[in-house]
Amino acid sequence: SLSDCCDYPIIKILILGDQAVGKTSLMLRFISDNFIENHLNTLGIDFKTKNIKHKEHDYQLQIWDSAGQERFKNITRTYYKKASAIIIAFDSTSIKSFEDVQNWIQNISNEVGNKIPLAIAATKCDIEYPENVIKGKNFAKERKLKYFKTSSKIDRNVKEMFWYLIEESIKLK
Ligand code: GDP
Ligand code: MG
Repeated sequence: SLSDCCDYPIIKILILGDQAVGKTSLMLRFISDNFIENHLNTLGIDFKTKNIKHKEHDYQLQIWDSAGQERFKNITRTYYKKASAIIIAFDSTSIKSFEDVQNWIQNISNEVGNKIPLAIAATKCDIEYPENVIKGKNFAKERKLKYFKTSSKIDRNVKEMFWYLIEESIKLK
């Protein structure tokens, strides 16, 4: 019911990464199981919620999408506050966005330290770009980070990635 929904423990997952890597698309795929080719690019911080159940317990999942401000590499403290887990996304067709993963990790480590569950998402894997996907895989392996080859468009590995982070977050609660 409406009255007890708001007491559910909150799991807050952030999606970071350069502009246009497909962050909003990951969020929409997980929240509403769809893909919109040309959705609007809004400015500011946006989040969507979904109530989820894990082992008979209810949680309110919040997925925070940095809408536009990633251009300024100026993710605010509010965005990071009480984060449970973070996805760092790069576009598997853009080497620049892959190179920036390093900077995002540095940013995260400055803001929230290194105990927070992380996942690296190679996005748009429906487009063949094997070199960057392998670079990402090696990068993640060296840093002992979980790596997911995803496509929001054809729905690959998006649920698996979010559920991995949800479970890691619950373990730490
Ligand atoms: P954001 O700026 O990181 O939020 O990126 P968006 O989610 O807005 O996506 C940027 C562009 O990439 C849009 O044109 C999307 O349609 C496209 N895109 C996002 N995800 C995928 C995907 O899985 N496959 C393909 N082929 N294109 C995608
Ligand atoms: Mg976006």
